[in-house]
Amino acid sequence: MRRPKEYPPKKIQRPIEVTPDLRRKMQELFRQVDGWDDMPFEDEQDDSIQVTGLSGNRVRDTRRPIRITYIPPGTDRGTKWKLALHQPEIEDIGYGMITELNLYCCSDPECGFRSTLSDMTCSRCDWEDE
Ligand SMILES: [Zn+2]
Repeated sequence: MRRPKEYPPKKIQRPIEVTPDLRRKMQELFRQVDGWDDMPFEDEQDDSIQVTGLSGNRVRDTRRPIRITYIPPGTDRGTKWKLALHQPEIEDIGYGMITELNLYCCSDPECGFRSTLSDMTCSRCDWEDE
């Protein structure tokens, strides 16, 4: 059994470059959505919008309602970016207006987990075996 660590290592926020791959996938994402109001909510799990290596859905009642899970190419499936974004930010990333994101990174330099929120957990660093 695995459980969340009682004292997970602190994450460090630093600027991370938006890769051409992420930019292209953000474009694909908003091309698939017929207006953001059509995007499925998180509690309708099966209905997330899928692009290869990226999925997205919406959460209710928050200033950054779009949740994106991104797996960079050439990495294992544990290496996830979890992004909470506002709709215009996704468009700006896709159009190349945003070229850098300030993301929380694990203190372990080997870990590729990235997130926009400090309390999103990394399955590799923030969980342990019982
Ligand atoms: Zn990690």
